[in-house]
Amino acid sequence: MKKIIVATGNEGKMDEIRQILQGENIQFVSLKDENLQDVEIIENGSTFEENAIIKARTISDLTGQMVLADDSGLEVDYLHGEPGIYSARYLGEDTSYDIKNNHIIDLLAGVPDDQRTARFVCVIACAFPDGRTITVRGVIEGRIGYEQKGENGFGYDPIFYYPPLKKTSAVMTMEEKNKVSHRAKALKALYDYLEEAHK
Ligand code: IMP
Repeated sequence: MKKIIVATGNEGKMDEIRQILQGENIQFVSLKDENLQDVEIIENGSTFEENAIIKARTISDLTGQMVLADDSGLEVDYLHGEPGIYSARYLGEDTSYDIKNNHIIDLLAGVPDDQRTARFVCVIACAFPDGRTITVRGVIEGRIGYEQKGENGFGYDPIFYYPPLKKTSAVMTMEEKNKVSHRAKALKALYDYLEEAHK
């Protein structure tokens, strides 16, 4: 069985990856499993791709193993793509999502539906021991709502309205979200890549 290190401290992401890539006969281990949780990774890229590659490459170079890393965020068109790669750090790392979400709603006060377009982006980088790195990208298109709605999910989910289901991603069940989410799409693209590479 192949072992892949997932460069995240987030157990939710680990579960999602295991669920979507099951059947690939891969054992996914976390940074903590490998005692690598204290490795300093400087995420100073200017795109989701660059940041995902930095994370995956740093750990792969250190261990000589195959490593997956993701970088994700919310892009709001009216805000010229903000918060984008700064989604987690927007208004400060320790500022609550209640405040971050209300701030975005306030910035879009009076802005009509057709200018409230936004998307969640997820890029996954896969670093191989031979020095190669590939990236895949998944996107979900939606709109910024007029108020926060829903208790599920995390982060910007309460303000991300998804027109096909007529609800925010914080109202979606985990099952609904996992069918359409940016992360699920990126993982599916990665699955297809790994399947193709086996042929
Ligand atoms: P990172 O990719 O873990 O560095 O963080 C990305 C940030 O983007 C998260 O902290 C959230 O604020 C936001 N984000 C990414 N994916 C989602 C999502 O599915 N729902 C809500 N917020 C998200």
